[in-house]
Amino acid sequence: KLPPEVYLQAVDQADLAISITDLAANILFANESFTRVTGYTPGEVVGNNESMLSNRTTPREIYQSMWTALMEQRPWSGKLLNRKKSGQLYLAELTISPVVDAAGKTTHYLGMHRDITEFH
Ligand code: FAD
Repeated sequence: KLPPEVYLQAVDQADLAISITDLAANILFANESFTRVTGYTPGEVVGNNESMLSNRTTPREIYQSMWTALMEQRPWSGKLLNRKKSGQLYLAELTISPVVDAAGKTTHYLGMHRDITEFH
């Protein structure tokens, strides 16, 4: 069985930008790659909504399909135009998974994204 700290180290050090939010998408945790990709340290994002990354140009329908999937406890994947702390725009390839407890209730969301600007 894996020692518990390995789960933490694996998430902290993963090459994907990982964040964990509450049910309203308020950020509770962000890993090292999240800082590398977005330019924001955990101290700057924790307590803020994930919408702080939005460039405010992504069509509303995309967010509606995202939230419909999440409320049905389905993961959602897609591409969004995000903005870094520096102001630079980047194309984010994002997957969000609901985190479900033993009783079957969604308690958190797990966000994983990478900057695919140079590949699209
Ligand atoms: P919002 O006020 O969020 O509304 C947009 C639409 O989503 C509306 O139709 C609203 O009804 C619906 N909605 C919003 N919140 C909820 C909720 N809690 N439950 C049900 N429906 C809801 N957005 C990005 O632009 N870039 C990201 O990188 C990004 N990463 C995310 C990572 C995670 C883990 C999660 C959970 C969300 C992420 N989001 C991201 C979505 C973000 O939280 C916002 O919903 C989005 O940015 C739109 O913000 P808004 O203020 O324009 O609109």
